Amino acid sequence: MAIYGRLRGTAGGADDPTDVVESVLESAPLCMDCVVVKTGLPPNDVVVALKVLLRTHAVDGNVGMCDSCGRPGALETSRPRAAD
Ligand SMILES: [Zn+2]
Repeated sequence: MAIYGRLRGTAGGADDPTDVVESVLESAPLCMDCVVVKTGLPPNDVVVALKVLLRTHAVDGNVGMCDSCGRPGALETSRPRAAD
């Protein structure tokens, strides 16, 4: 599923916030606050990037606890699981 974000991000180049946000969510589920911290992007850019990723289903919302701060409501890239 990650390919969707990559395709959409090509217009903005390698530093496209969508790509950056997706790549941190690939390694661990994180809440939006922690995505902002980990990416170092302006919160506004993270919000916009997450909207794109959620709309294209590259990222799922509310997947559970944030891997960094332990709060619920984390986001994570949607990848096919073994169960799928
Ligand atoms: Zn967090």
